[in-house]
This record gives sequence, structure tokens and C-alpha cells, in this order.
Amino acid sequence: GGTIGILGGGQLGRMMAVAAAQLGYRCIGFAPEGDTVLEQVCDDVFSNKWDDRAALAAFAAQCDAVTWEFENVPVSTAQAIPAGRIFPHPRALETAQDRLTEKRFVEDLGGTPAAYAKVDSHDDLTAAIERLGAPGILKTRRDGYDGKGQWRISSARDAEGLRLPDVPLIYEAFVEFEAEFSVILVRGRDGEVRFWDSTRNTHVDGILATSVLPTGEVIAAQVETARSLARKVADRLEYVGVLTLEFFATKSGPVFNEMAPRVHNSGHWTIEGAVTSQFENHIRAVAGLPLGDTSTVAKAVEMTNIIGDAISSAQSFLSTPDTHLHDYGKAEVRAGRKMGHVTRLDR
Ligand code: ATP
Ligand code: MG
Ligand code: MG
Repeated sequence: GGTIGILGGGQLGRMMAVAAAQLGYRCIGFAPEGDTVLEQVCDDVFSNKWDDRAALAAFAAQCDAVTWEFENVPVSTAQAIPAGRIFPHPRALETAQDRLTEKRFVEDLGGTPAAYAKVDSHDDLTAAIERLGAPGILKTRRDGYDGKGQWRISSARDAEGLRLPDVPLIYEAFVEFEAEFSVILVRGRDGEVRFWDSTRNTHVDGILATSVLPTGEVIAAQVETARSLARKVADRLEYVGVLTLEFFATKSGPVFNEMAPRVHNSGHWTIEGAVTSQFENHIRAVAGLPLGDTSTVAKAVEMTNIIGDAISSAQSFLSTPDTHLHDYGKAEVRAGRKMGHVTRLDR
């Protein structure tokens, strides 16, 4: 055992802490955001600001290893943890926090993102639409999640009236995809890489709704290419822990959407559906333990997110066989907020 520090206080950290406890580790958290669901399962959660160096030093001093569950932890915060004690390396955050940096990084490794253009002004947007066409999606380069900070643009005229926020933006051509899937891998401290099965993911209003197995042939035929890119990304970053890449399956092969340098919502099914869950393997990697088997244990898996009010009736899932409810214990129910998930297995 030992102590693992988690930067960020959401449900991903909470599920990591549960896995860590099973392996005999205690967890402490660092979560300035407030309303943390981590504190229910952690010994202690620091609520100091991300740039509070004294608090970070006190936090790190208690930890054998530190990781994050939130991809927007400031890079300077991650860098303030002594090197060799924080996993993955903070360079992974740096790469993935900016959609432009992330796309260039992936292109450099041979991956194909949607056609894109950097947008810093209305003129840039006009030029981007002229060059890449419409429809497309305008996104903030930083801080977006669950489809927040995105504007669908169906025509050049659409863009004319748009008031741009005063932050760096990126315009992406709309990808006519057949389906969406994610590649989730774990990389150990020794460089060993293991993949979980890729699920077919569906989104509603920009928020992940379901992740299912089996995926069908369109995705199955593209997983290998996508995995080989994901492995290159992990190797280049000397990544330690769980890494996720999201893809569009298209007629011309897998198109890279984005990466998440962390455990991922589309991997929640692995808690019951795989021999070793993404959370357990993340903790194993970060703690320098041997990685566990990532094989799927069922013929079919369906993970459904519980968003907003739906949590009030979620206990009804408990009467269905081989159906597993996860309630994140969030104090405040909000529309569009991830409140829990349910995984159904067909063994
Ligand atoms: P996450 O919560 O996964 O981090 P996010 O806010 O970073 O979400 P994206 O993954 O960029 O958002 O987009 C959310 C969803 O919107 C995608 O999964 C996809 O369904 C759709 N989408 C995003 N970009 C494109 C695109 N260029 N073409 C077609 N659909 C897109
Ligand atoms: Mg994202
Ligand atoms: Mg996404």
C-alpha cells in the first residue's frame, strides 16, 4: 500500500479511489472546485486553489504517487509535483489541453483529424469556412467538455451573425461519420501497453449517452488502425496510466476526434465488463504495479449515462439482472449533468 494523490474531485477520481482502496492504497484529493464527490471515498481533500504552492507541496509530501482525474488541471500545478511522483507526465496535459496542439501532435504521428483551421477573429472564421466548407463546428481550443464551448455552423451566413467569445478557437469541418468509438489503453511504467475492447459510443446534445459492445463491423474494421495511432501517442508521451482517444469511423477510415489523458466515461463498462477495470489498471500503472488483464468478460455490454433528473428513478435498474448502478452521489442535480451510469451485461 501507500498513498495516492488525485488532482480533481469528480466521479472519475471517486471511481479511481474505490479501485485504489481495493488494492490497499489510501487516497487523498486536491480539488479547488468545491462540490466534490471524491471526499466521500477519500481520507482528505485539499480545497486550496490550483496555484497554492504551499498546499500543493503539503499534498505531494503525503503521496507516494500523484495522478489526475481532470484534464484541465493547470500544467503548472502538475509540474509543481516533484518529477517521478506524478503520473502520467504533465506533458500529456500540455498536449491535450489545447485542441490545436493536440491535432498537430496527432498529425505528426500519422493520424488524421477532421480538417481544421485556427480561428482568432471573425475574418479567420470566414476564411476557414471558405476553405473547409460548411457545415462545421466552431470549438473553443481549451476547457470544453460534454459539448460545451461548441457552435454548429451550417452555412457561411450562419457565421456572419455569430458573436465570437474572446478566446482562441478552432473550426472543424463536420465529419460525416458512420459511428463513433474510443480506444482506451493503459501503459505501465515499463512501457507495456494493453487495450480494452473499443465500444461504439453515441452522444446526445454533445454528451456521451451510451457505450456498447459488440460494435458491429464498421468499427471493428477500424480499431486496429486507431489502436496503432493510440499506441504511438502513448509511447511519444512516455505515458503512464490510462489514455483515451476518440474516433469517428468514416468510409475512409478512422478520423481522430480528440484525446483525453485520463480514464474515460466510455470505459466505465470495464468495472463489471472487463477482467480489470480502467480505474484499477490506472492505479496499478501509477503505483508501479503489474497491469491486469483487460479482456471483456461478457458477450454484450451496454453502459448508459444517467443525466440530470433521471437519477431520481435510477434505483429501478436494480431489479434487472446483471445490471449495475453507479450513483456518483452528487449533491446537486442539474440538467445535462452526469449523475451516474448503469452497465448491463449479457454474459
Ligand atoms: P468530451 O466530453 O468527450 O470531452 P467535448 O466537449 O470535448 O466532449 P467533442 O468530443 O469535441 O466534445 O465533441 C462532442 C461530440 O460532438 C462528438 O463526440 C461528436 O458526436 C460531435 N462532434 C464533434 N466534432 C465533430 C466533427 N468535427 N464532426 C462531426 N461531429 C462532431
Ligand atoms: Mg473533450
Ligand atoms: Mg469528446
